[in-house]
Amino acid sequence: MSFDAGENTFRPIVGIDLGTTNSAIAHIRDGRPEIIPSPRGDRITPSVVMIDLDGKVAVGEEARASLVAMPDRTVAAVKRKMGTGEPLSIAGQALLPEEISALILKELKRYADAALGEGEMEAVITVPAYFTDEQRRATKRAGELAGFAVERIINEPTAAALAYGLEHLDDHAHVLVYDLGGGTFDVSVCELMGGVLEVQASTGNRQLGGEDFDWRLVDMFADRMIAEHGVDPRLDIRARALLKEEAERVKKRLSAEATVSVSLPLVTVKDNRPVGLHIAMSREEFETLIDDLLEETMESVRKVLADARLTAGDVDEILLVGGSTRIVRVQSLMQAFFGRAARMDINPDEAVALGAAVQAGLKSGALSASGLVVTDVAPFSMGIAVLRHMSGRSVKPGAFSVIIPRNSTIPVTKSERYYTALPGQTQVAIEIYQGENEWVKYNHSLGEFLLEGIPENQEEAEAIQVQFRYNLNGILDVSATSVSNGQSMRLIVQDALKRDSQEAFEESRQRIDSLSQSAPAVDEEDLDDDWLEGSDLDDDEDWEEGLDDEDLEDSELDDEDVGGSGSGR
Ligand code: ADP
Ligand code: MG
Repeated sequence: MSFDAGENTFRPIVGIDLGTTNSAIAHIRDGRPEIIPSPRGDRITPSVVMIDLDGKVAVGEEARASLVAMPDRTVAAVKRKMGTGEPLSIAGQALLPEEISALILKELKRYADAALGEGEMEAVITVPAYFTDEQRRATKRAGELAGFAVERIINEPTAAALAYGLEHLDDHAHVLVYDLGGGTFDVSVCELMGGVLEVQASTGNRQLGGEDFDWRLVDMFADRMIAEHGVDPRLDIRARALLKEEAERVKKRLSAEATVSVSLPLVTVKDNRPVGLHIAMSREEFETLIDDLLEETMESVRKVLADARLTAGDVDEILLVGGSTRIVRVQSLMQAFFGRAARMDINPDEAVALGAAVQAGLKSGALSASGLVVTDVAPFSMGIAVLRHMSGRSVKPGAFSVIIPRNSTIPVTKSERYYTALPGQTQVAIEIYQGENEWVKYNHSLGEFLLEGIPENQEEAEAIQVQFRYNLNGILDVSATSVSNGQSMRLIVQDALKRDSQEAFEESRQRIDSLSQSAPAVDEEDLDDDWLEGSDLDDDEDWEEGLDDEDLEDSELDDEDVGGSGSGR
């Protein structure tokens, strides 16, 4: 069964911020985005999963509360592992990051089911702009495992800008979105004009956020305990979790207070005696601890402005998004840099989910009257490995030939022509990378495939046309064609992944299923099979909007794109 995204259907559609620390779900009601709260009224849900002693799965506040008591049964910040394929151990079971994310998404779906009625549901899910292809795929898979038809994966800062854009349709403004959450940092500049929101540049750091600030504090606490008691509390998993929790509490309080005292009588034990921690912490001390990390975020701000060819003075509005922007030093750094205060009218915890709902509304038609249109960019360059001619006659493999440059407006299709390096060569390996380094080994590998069947030509090099298509979800398809005989390998990377992922998907489904089944206290609806049926992998083709064949033909073999960097000519 295939679902046509253009057809009118009655499936509700929601927007989801699947955060490292907190997640939220929203929808459009009466032309406005609105958070769907949990049955107990929470507007954001901690992205924490716990499996208790009875095998019952808990997500959110309850799971978060057990991080200290049951660290080995609880997983937090799983988003940082998305796309790694590394299983995580939770309550003695190995679960993939996307499976754990799926449990979080299932919890959110429960809120939406209660509010909008149970059944098939589409979702727009956000990811950091800097998420790689694998991380996006893993996110999409998590959504499908949770029972959503995942309509679109969009970038978090773009979503935040959309939430702003809907309220400012008539403005002409450059908007900078600075999103500092628990685990990731993203910054984008957009231009809003006549209801068109155009993302101009986007950058960030996949591994920087409030978690790092917490750990800096934990290290400081530990140093103090080592100095005073000769014991490193980080070696004790329970003490470590306790200090982490305390660190976050201290950090948050320092956003409102000038000093905070820590008084923990029992952190760990040494020689059968309790060892505690008693210190006072000032806001300045904390700011000094994290200053280099905040300076890194300002580096990204400078970079994104340079990429967009703007100066600080060109920015009309600054949106601060993410819980960590409540840190006073973040606000003052931004204020000093831009010479103006940031907007505080959009709730930093909710902006991304609300914006995802706006995207959902644009897709479903619920917001089409607004006239709001959004374009996004590829946040990194994508290309392939080629040989580079060095001085003299030597060649060096592993040079990065960019096919889609960073900050290209998406969807985008580009092709480049390359040449075989050796006489009589009948196959070439197409190694696909993303990143900004001129050598592929410093970039991120996205996969590779072999193009075979190139005519054996002893006289001259054979031309190979390589085409990259990067779609609105930020997912890449690559094809390579031998020009002289039309021999082509298309979607090999994608297909291989798809076959793999279909099997893996089934396995994941079963694992999550068995989890739910071993959970006696889980709600009826969680045990219902419905949630599995919504995810039809066959939908993939339709889901890849902006990648239909017309698109392809238009831009294929575009002369301007052809002929650049050949290998081995
Ligand atoms: P994510 O997008 O990663 O899910 P959030 O935007 O929800 O993250 O932000 C969570 C982070 O914000 C956590 O690291 C949390 O400790 C931090 N945070 C929340 N409130 C405050 C505060 N008042 N002061 C400082 N940091 C805060
Ligand atoms: Mg976030």
